[in-house]
Amino acid sequence: MNASMSAASAAELARSAFRRLAVLRLAPTPENYARIWAELAHARNHGGPVPEPAPRAPGDAAAPRPAPAGAASRPAVAQPSAGGSGAQGTACAAATSRPAPAQAAHGVPAAAAGTTPAAVPAAGVWRQMWEQGLHLGLIPASTDAQLQQKAAQLLGLAQGTAQAQTLLGDNRELWQRFERALAQERGTVDGMLELFSMLVSHVGDVFAGDSAAAAEFGTLQQVCRRPLDGSRIELARSVMEPWLRRQAALQRSALEARATSREVVGQVLRGLGTFLDHNGRFNQSLQQDLGQLDAGLDEDALKLLARELMQRGTELHEHGSQLGQSLQKAQQQAELALHRIRRLESELEQASQQLRQDPLTGALNRRGLDVAFVRDSARAAEQQRPLSVALLDLDHFKQINDSYGHDFGDEVLRGLVQVARKLVRPGDSIARMGGEEFMMLFPDTDADAAQRAVERLLQGFRNRRVLHRSTGQRVEMSFSAGVAQVQDGEAFGELYERADTALRQAKQCGRQQVLLAEPGCASRN
Ligand code: GH3
Ligand code: MG
Ligand code: MG
Repeated sequence: MNASMSAASAAELARSAFRRLAVLRLAPTPENYARIWAELAHARNHGGPVPEPAPRAPGDAAAPRPAPAGAASRPAVAQPSAGGSGAQGTACAAATSRPAPAQAAHGVPAAAAGTTPAAVPAAGVWRQMWEQGLHLGLIPASTDAQLQQKAAQLLGLAQGTAQAQTLLGDNRELWQRFERALAQERGTVDGMLELFSMLVSHVGDVFAGDSAAAAEFGTLQQVCRRPLDGSRIELARSVMEPWLRRQAALQRSALEARATSREVVGQVLRGLGTFLDHNGRFNQSLQQDLGQLDAGLDEDALKLLARELMQRGTELHEHGSQLGQSLQKAQQQAELALHRIRRLESELEQASQQLRQDPLTGALNRRGLDVAFVRDSARAAEQQRPLSVALLDLDHFKQINDSYGHDFGDEVLRGLVQVARKLVRPGDSIARMGGEEFMMLFPDTDADAAQRAVERLLQGFRNRRVLHRSTGQRVEMSFSAGVAQVQDGEAFGELYERADTALRQAKQCGRQQVLLAEPGCASRN
């Protein structure tokens, strides 16, 4: 902080310090406040604006993240590139500006307005600090009703007469209790995160030999590195669930098939045993009969022997054919079980494809896009590489539907995805967001390069010679698009908003063009 720091920015700094205390769930003690305040002032002094910590979501179990490093921000844009298909007037090239963050109204410690970054705030501000600490940190964070009641009571005291001693004594006990509860909660959360990481790193073992599953879980492992947040855990859950269901169904089916096979084998063995038994007895009696022959029999005895032999032979033959039949039946049953497993496997495969694919165009659906975005943004952050997205919306699509029919409209949607697949890199993704709106992801690509890629696609799409079957007319088609480069720590929602604003500007500026989005707040931190 420099010597000319205004009272307003000192107030903002103090407000940030309170918020940070609350977010980090630190007791608003003089030491903690002074430390956080000094850190923020130092960050401001060294070129980085004061990081505004995001409030912790109720399900967000991860430790507070460090403020993102200041990314180089792009110049104000929303302009077509040099090769773009025609900007229409300066109004279309103007960037929309964001309102400046609201200034803090109160919470300025006396020392905060001074010139020394690490100065400890004056004693007169403890009460105020303490009240804000209770308001911002303890009351919303605690789930312990008694603790909340106590905090509210203390707050009442603080606002009424100054019963300083009681207040301080109670405050100490209160914070001790709060910190104990917090440590316990942290322990539970850490344990659960540990368990979660273990599950994610070993879930692939359950699907050994299944390459699709291996790829999916490889991505998941990348995405689920710490620090984790609620949205990543939810994503992991939604990715794992269908696979585990599939595996459970296959397992059940395999168990059934194994039971059938066991029964079939048992039948065959029993049949074979009886046959061999019969055969053995037949051989034995044959030996005896041959012995009688050697002993010399008269004609009648020989006739009798021949009849008996024929009868036993017939019995043996019947046994043999019975066994043959039951073998055949067993084989059919085994084939049926195998067929059932194969069908189930392909049904499950199809179902998991459908989970992330748009059935009309074959592009990713919204769910598939979520997985791809988390994967690509995690990779981009890890490798410090750019990632850009483009939001596309077909121009006058309603008119195309109205003039040529809905089926033709569907063909146009499929056509766009086909052209995109031909013209973009294999690592890029295209997803249908709904209706005639698509989002594309361009890993390892900055906004300018992504804009050029989408313009190539626009050119390719417009050049398609699509003739309407019954009228033979050539149908003109195009799209408008907004391109945004993902900024450090930027959430998908904000990125989408930026791309959408640029897309709307492209529509306003006459359509058939690709505009760059303004940089968002994330890069200004
Ligand atoms: P603009 O250039 O401003 O985007 O105009 P537009 O006509 O494309 O925009 P609008 O949002 O008015 O119309 C979108 C149309 O897309 C309306 C809807 O009937 C059509 N549509 C949405 N989903 C489908 C689909 O799956 N198949 C077909 N054929 N049409 C669809
Ligand atoms: Mg449209
Ligand atoms: Mg639309």
